[in-house]
Amino acid sequence: MCKIAVISLKWIRPAVFALIICALALSFAGGMAAYVGAVYPEVTVVLDAGHGGFDGGVVSAAGDKEADINLYITKRVKKRLEEEGVRVVMTRTDDGALGENKKEDMRRRAEIIEQSGADAVISIHVNKYTQSYRRGVQVFYGDTGTGGAFAMQLQSVFNTYINSKYSGRSYSALAGDYFIAKCSVIPSVIVECGFISNPEDLKLLKTQKYADEIAECICKCVRK
Ligand SMILES: [Zn+2]
Repeated sequence: MCKIAVISLKWIRPAVFALIICALALSFAGGMAAYVGAVYPEVTVVLDAGHGGFDGGVVSAAGDKEADINLYITKRVKKRLEEEGVRVVMTRTDDGALGENKKEDMRRRAEIIEQSGADAVISIHVNKYTQSYRRGVQVFYGDTGTGGAFAMQLQSVFNTYINSKYSGRSYSALAGDYFIAKCSVIPSVIVECGFISNPEDLKLLKTQKYADEIAECICKCVRK
């Protein structure tokens, strides 16, 4: 009896050892997959909340600062993109600027964009016009940048889902000399989410519903 038991153990031990090795290998492979998925997701987007700190951007008649509205909308866009598994890099996450003056602030933003390895850069702003009737979402891209096609796609989605609904006016994406939209080779756009000089737009710009509509439009274009 004793001899049989010893023989059995002799075979059982390597079998158990092999099972443990298999289990370890499987869990390691699974862990690696999750790790790779977390570190190298499919899409990375830089979200740039325009202005901040010493630079409040445009201001409404009642004193609402563009920089605050930009940050609020940018955070909603971040949330929506992350729900879709997009990796988001923010240039700023609080009220502060990224430098002590405009030049330093823009240089720092360009550095973050350069180091991000992103697939797209979206700079969030709010517009102002001398006449208060103008309203709606408008997209811009750098005249020497690579964001033209992305800007046109975004503009088309904004026209369909937001401009037709609120202002009834469609826009075309426009090229211009915008540093943030051409400081890298990454397709980059500036989204002017509405006009702070229009009372209806201003009201919308401060609501979560509108910020989420902007986020949804951006999400539609980033997923494609
Ligand atoms: Zn701005």
